Amino acid sequence: MINEAAATCPLCGNDNLCGIKEVLTGGTCWCMNKAERMPQELLERVPPDKRRQSCICQACYTAYMREARSREAQ
Ligand SMILES: [Zn+2]
Repeated sequence: MINEAAATCPLCGNDNLCGIKEVLTGGTCWCMNKAERMPQELLERVPPDKRRQSCICQACYTAYMREARSREAQ
């Protein structure tokens, strides 16, 4: 069941551009094609009531990866 919430990033509230709709019709989503899995730490930032309901958007994922990398560099 696809609803409005599933198309919204649980972290920033923007359209997550997830390809779930396309997946259902044979397409794929960026979040399934990326090399690394969604980091657990990022998933844990999603409010519990919103977990497993919608995808984190690519912008939040990219921002997190940048943040994690700069943390490692220190
Ligand atoms: Zn987002």
